[in-house]
This record gives sequence, C-alpha cells and structure tokens, in this order.
Amino acid sequence: MSSRQTRDQVHWLTGQFCEYCKELMYRRSITSRVQFETCISLTVAALIFGMFAISDYSLLGPTQEYYLLIAMRSVVVVLCLLLVVIIRHWGGYSRRAWLHALPLWILATGIILIVPLRPDSLSTQITAVVVATMAFYLLIPNLLTVVTLASLYLSIGFLTSAVLFADITTAQALRMALLFIMANAVGFFALLRLETLQRLQFALLSEERDQNHQLLEEIAHRKSLEAQLRMIAERDALTGLNNRGHFMKLTTALLHRSQQENEPFSLFMIDVDHFKRINDTWGHSHGDWVLTKIAEACAQSLRRTDVIGRFGGEEFIVALPNTGPDDAKILAQRLKERVAALPSQEDIGALSPSVTIGIAVAHQEDVDLESLITTADQMLYVGKRDGRNRIIMS
Ligand code: GH3
Ligand code: MG
Ligand code: MG
Repeated sequence: MSSRQTRDQVHWLTGQFCEYCKELMYRRSITSRVQFETCISLTVAALIFGMFAISDYSLLGPTQEYYLLIAMRSVVVVLCLLLVVIIRHWGGYSRRAWLHALPLWILATGIILIVPLRPDSLSTQITAVVVATMAFYLLIPNLLTVVTLASLYLSIGFLTSAVLFADITTAQALRMALLFIMANAVGFFALLRLETLQRLQFALLSEERDQNHQLLEEIAHRKSLEAQLRMIAERDALTGLNNRGHFMKLTTALLHRSQQENEPFSLFMIDVDHFKRINDTWGHSHGDWVLTKIAEACAQSLRRTDVIGRFGGEEFIVALPNTGPDDAKILAQRLKERVAALPSQEDIGALSPSVTIGIAVAHQEDVDLESLITTADQMLYVGKRDGRNRIIMS
C-alpha cells in the first residue's frame, strides 16, 4: 500500500480512521497506555486546580466567596480523582470515550465558575484558561473531537461568564475571544497532527504484521506441499512403506557404511504365498487390504535401524544393517509368525496369509546391493519351490 493510500485512511479533520472497525482496533491497541497516561495527567491537573486555593486565600481572605471557591475546588478535585479510579479500572478507550471526556468538562466547569467568585483576578484566569486549553489538547490523552468540544465549552463558557460577572468592555471581550481562538487553533492542529501520525504508524505496523502473517502461512503451505511431494516421491501409495527407488537409495548408503565399519549386513526378500489366489477368490480390494496388513506386520517386527520397502506387487524387501545370519534368521522367523498371526477377515471367511522369505548375508566386503538382492531372490525361489511358508538363507 502506498503512503498516499495509507494517508487516505485517516480523516483529515478528525484525525481518526475513516473505517470505524479500524478506528476501534487502533483505540483498543492503545487503551492501556491511554488509561495510564490519563490517570497521571488528570491527577496532576486536579492537584494544580486544587492548589490554586492558596492564591484564592491571599486574594480573598476568609470571606464567603473564599469558602465557596474552596468548596467548588474540592468538588472538582474529588470528582477528577474519582474519575481517575474509574478510568483506571473501566476506562475502555475504544467504546467509552465519553468517560474520558467527563474530567475535561468538570475541570472546564470549575474554571468557568471561578469568574463570578473571583471577578477581580480575570487576567490571571485568562492565562489559566490558555494553559488549561493546551493541557486539554496535549497533556490529557483524548480524541480530537472530544477535546475540541470540551475546549470550546471552556472558552465560550469563560467568555460568557466574564461578560456577565466581570464587567469587561467589548474590546476586552474581543481580545479574549481572539486569544482563545488562537489557543484552540494551535492545540487543535497540534493534536490533529499527532493523532494522524499515530494512526498512520499503526496502519503501517498492521500492514507489516499482516504481510508477515501471510508470509508465515505461505511458508507453512510450501512446507506441507514439500512434505506431500516427498511422500509421493519416497513412499508406496498403498502400504506407506518406502518405494523401491527410495529403498535402494537408503540401503546403498547403509550397506556402504556397514562395509566401511566391517559390520555384518543382511537382506530379506519377502513374497506373499499364493497371493493371486487371494485376489482371485476375494477380489482385488481384499487383496489390497491383505497387502497393507502384511506390510504393517513386517514393519512392526523389525528394529528401528532396519529399512523396509515394497519391492513390487506382493513382494517386500528389508535391509538389516549390523545383522549377522543368526540374528537375521530370528528376525525373519518373528516376521513370518507375525504375518501368520494376522487376523483374517472373518466375515468373508478368508484364511490368514503366509510369506516365504529369502535371506542374503553380505560376507565379502565388495558385494554390492544388486548382487545381494539377486541372492535373496534366488533363496526366495528355492523357498517357493520347496513348498512356501518358509525361510531360506544363502
Ligand atoms: P507365489 O506363492 O508363487 O508367490 O504365488 P502368487 O500368486 O503370490 O504369485 P503371482 O506372481 O502368480 O501373483 C502375484 C499376484 O499379485 C498377481 C498380481 O495381480 C497381484 N498383485 C500385485 N500387486 C498387487 C496389488 O497392489 N494389489 C493386489 N490386490 N494385487 C496385486
Ligand atoms: Mg511375487
Ligand atoms: Mg507371491
């Protein structure tokens, strides 16, 4: 998004986001900061307002006006401090902007009420109004619209009060009005600029966050695609075992390492007996189901270091690193028994399948995987010829 487009999101006069949802989101994001700053600045403003009781006394002495002023100042201070507590706990900035507006109206009313009680010190009070106007705009955090209304109320109210109770001339009233207009204009444009800049910053940050989020989603999506592709490239779709190509790749490395470390290495070639009969009798889908069950049983009988793959059709192949003939035979026996113990699909009366296993053991250092597979295949052929459901070792 260009900076022009970002700028267009913020209203030129109110300094708020044109989109109400975005405005609420922004206000929600700064709520705790606004609450904290409001409490501090409001406490300071209330205490300063209360402290003017000292100058009241030096001007008025213990008169009825002085006691009235003290009472009024106390009410304002107490109300402001009460609002500090309320805002601290319940001052949600997004939907309770009116709560944040209340202290401004109370302080403004307090300042306006000083005029009839202390009409002689009008020039000091004019200064106080200008300072209060600036504090409204720049010290106590609030929305520009809220501050503008409260400040205008203070200026107009004070001017009216001065005309009614302080006996000022028309020229004095005009000078005062001009001063208040200037104070309001300076405050208004300063806060407008601040509000706009803060929202632009928020919009840019949100945009960056969205882009990061999209990027993370894209990365996750690509990773999942990569995993799926790897799965398709390396796994057999029916049984989930390694496919022939991946098995060969893994096993070539394993055999090489075994030979380097001078460790024994064995290989199983497993073929399901009379599988064609299973297919012909119970149908291909039952045949598929039997194949997945046999694959599971084979995988479960092996160790973590062994590698199993589907070699083709109803044939499986297993690489057993660090395994000599004795251990290979024990493992093959365990595997065969596990297949034999497979539960049959009783509802259609199918019998448990069996497997024949040909074992090749790498005796020489220079034997390669192809020749090991050929040997295991030959042993498998011997096992088939001798009646199936057996283990034959080279
Ligand atoms: P043997 O005991 O001599 O191994 O007999 P066999 O019937 O198992 O061997 P044969 O090679 O005659 O038949 C293998 C059958 O396996 C033929 C083929 O249709 C079937 N087959 C191969 N792949 C699949 C498969 O993915 N699903 C199913 N259901 N059948 C398959
Ligand atoms: Mg076969
Ligand atoms: Mg077979």
